[in-house]
Amino acid sequence: MPEMDLETLIQGVKDRNRRMIAKTMTLIESRVPAHQEMAAKIMEQILPMAGNSTRLGVTGVPGVGKSTFIENLGVYLADAGHQVAVLAVDPSSRRSGGSILGDKTRMEKLAVHANAFIRPSPAGETLGGVAAKTRETMLVCEAAGFDVILVETVGVGQSETAVAAMVDFFLVLMIAGAGDELQGIKKGVLELADGIAINKADGDNQDRVARAKKDLENAMHLILPATASWQTPVMTCSSVEKNGTVPVWEKVRAHQDIVKRSGEFDQRRKSQALEWMWTLVEDGLKRRFHNHEAICRQIPVLSQQVRDEKITPSAAAEKLLSYW
Ligand code: GDP
Repeated sequence: MPEMDLETLIQGVKDRNRRMIAKTMTLIESRVPAHQEMAAKIMEQILPMAGNSTRLGVTGVPGVGKSTFIENLGVYLADAGHQVAVLAVDPSSRRSGGSILGDKTRMEKLAVHANAFIRPSPAGETLGGVAAKTRETMLVCEAAGFDVILVETVGVGQSETAVAAMVDFFLVLMIAGAGDELQGIKKGVLELADGIAINKADGDNQDRVARAKKDLENAMHLILPATASWQTPVMTCSSVEKNGTVPVWEKVRAHQDIVKRSGEFDQRRKSQALEWMWTLVEDGLKRRFHNHEAICRQIPVLSQQVRDEKITPSAAAEKLLSYW
């Protein structure tokens, strides 16, 4: 792509031109070095325009109702005049090159809404890579004037931690009666939550939902909240009956008011930026280590010596690091 396109792309992003936004994101997601170089230049210019949005993460096991919830909330916000972007973090999307998360066919109304933009998860080798690219596409959306960014992720593995580290409010969607194990409700996830919503609170499910709400409220009392001045609420909603979606958004707004006043909002964004820097440093160091010629030559030799017990693992590690 010729150099002059850079300005066209940046202007396109500023003008909220969908085609230019998508092109910019494709550059960001590309593994071609020339594209990455260009993407870095774009990011540099975009950064001062970013940051002005509410970043809401949504997690939950498959089938909990994430896309239905996001469709409802997204349409509600877009109808109210917000510019809504939906992004996804799904490291398992590597094979298909696209993801079931953030899939446009699952969010039919939102996908065609004039005030909305949906981008599926970038395909990537590692969660770190996928998360880094999603973070950058989030900044592009902000530069384009999207004021609500919804980041969807599956409630398995480490992807929740990665998304919690890039949003202002982390919402955990659950269903009643599925069993804690099944929903991956580890203490760690609850510690990350700024809000919990028990979905599918409809039909003959109501009693179970009420019980699950009580249980979760009790569990949450034993957990240190993610934000000192905020007690993580346990809410209920039905995405099918379109009940409870708006109260969840009102909680997000209330949380923002409180943390903006207390200074915790800025603190969180700043520490997230630093955390991101260190993640990139660690990723970069690892990559460079494995691309280092002398180290690459020594790895099989030393590995064999460790297997043959001719050298201790720590001495081998020291030796490999000494080539650095
Ligand atoms: P995701 O995998 O978490 O994105 O879940 P989906 O949004 O695709 O929903 C999974 C299934 O649950 C679909 O068949 C939805 O229609 C259904 N569903 C979603 N929300 C609700 C709800 O609030 N109540 C009921 N009864 N079903 C729901």
